[in-house]
Amino acid sequence: MVNQKPLVTSLYDLTPQEMESFFLSIGEKRYRAKQVLDFLYHHPVGKIDEMTTLPGSLRKRLSETVRLIPLDLRTTVESSDGTIKHAYEVQDKARNKALLESVWMPADKTDVSGLKDGKNLKSGSDKAKRFTLCISSQLGCAAGCSFCATGALGLKGQLTTGEIVYQVVHSLALYERLPDTVLFMGMGEPMHNFEAVSAAIEILTHPDGLGLSQRRIVISTSGELERLGATHRKFPKIRLAISLNAATDALRSKIMPVNKKFNLKAIAAFISSLDANRRDKVTLEYVVLAGVNDSPDHVKKLSGYLKPITRNVKVNLIPYNPVKGSKYKTPPHKTVLSIQQKLIEIGVSTFIRKNRGREAMAACGQLGGK
Ligand code: SAH
Ligand code: SF4
Repeated sequence: MVNQKPLVTSLYDLTPQEMESFFLSIGEKRYRAKQVLDFLYHHPVGKIDEMTTLPGSLRKRLSETVRLIPLDLRTTVESSDGTIKHAYEVQDKARNKALLESVWMPADKTDVSGLKDGKNLKSGSDKAKRFTLCISSQLGCAAGCSFCATGALGLKGQLTTGEIVYQVVHSLALYERLPDTVLFMGMGEPMHNFEAVSAAIEILTHPDGLGLSQRRIVISTSGELERLGATHRKFPKIRLAISLNAATDALRSKIMPVNKKFNLKAIAAFISSLDANRRDKVTLEYVVLAGVNDSPDHVKKLSGYLKPITRNVKVNLIPYNPVKGSKYKTPPHKTVLSIQQKLIEIGVSTFIRKNRGREAMAACGQLGGK
């Protein structure tokens, strides 16, 4: 994997522990870390100079050596369904300008199911509304899934920890609140940028960071099970999602090259190995591709595959979102409904993901940095 080194470290790159080490390393007192973290995650400011509890000399020194905000918002595009796509300018691994995208949207039922506390809800008109933020972990993606716009870009670069974290922090400035759920389902395969994603989760969930409960975070992987297992051991309450997308190895290998490494059997074994008493089921995503994986025969095979693991999973059916130049087609809604019906019949909780943000090319699999 390519590991892009940022030109200058942003304060948002550092975990709370790294922040302490940083201040100690420059001869400052340990408590400076807490003061800075409080600004970063609880009272975000636009400039280091606005961190008024720090002495002027320290503010000057920091301003000269580290960056504060690692992302530059370029555009926001809103769809009529309330979905808002943000495009941020960053540098790719060749140091060219590139865009990374995040999507703010009214929450889907599956995003917030099981979340009881209203910790992030502010009073006013948004009180009853729940919001989900879908964030990116890479510029492009190397996994090469044949139906995905991000995959078509190839890997253009890794995001730094700060670039991942700031997508979430920025909602405080944009929407005066944090999202109820953070989905690692934007551009990229999070498990291909493992170190930066782990550090980002640490910051998002640490009490001295954003302090989100782990259950508010969903990691979606195309099937990098070894690293998903490691993430699960480190953050046991994080919700896990795996993109299944096919019920035979022949088809899955054809549309998702990762299947040659971690196939259907490996996915079922991984899911069965998780603590059966876990409150959260693993979400299996199934992009429904007309004429490819939606025939009665495929659905029968899918049911057969899910039967031994019905109690440990829920399924999210995602009707294919059109990608320019792609050969795939969106299935008729009634096909998707009938798949849902069949899976419910065998006892699998099955949801159909709304095609949020299609107009803004902000729906699943449509993020292509344009
Ligand atoms: N790389 C991770 C997360 C980002 S993709 C992963 O693959 O899981 C998020 C979801 O979008 C995945 O479930 C993926 O299968 C789905 N997806 C990709 N392209 C799509 C498309 N064109 N239409 C609908 N869903 C798509
Ligand atoms: Fe990468 Fe996920 Fe797209 Fe596959 S579906 S190419 S893993 S972003």
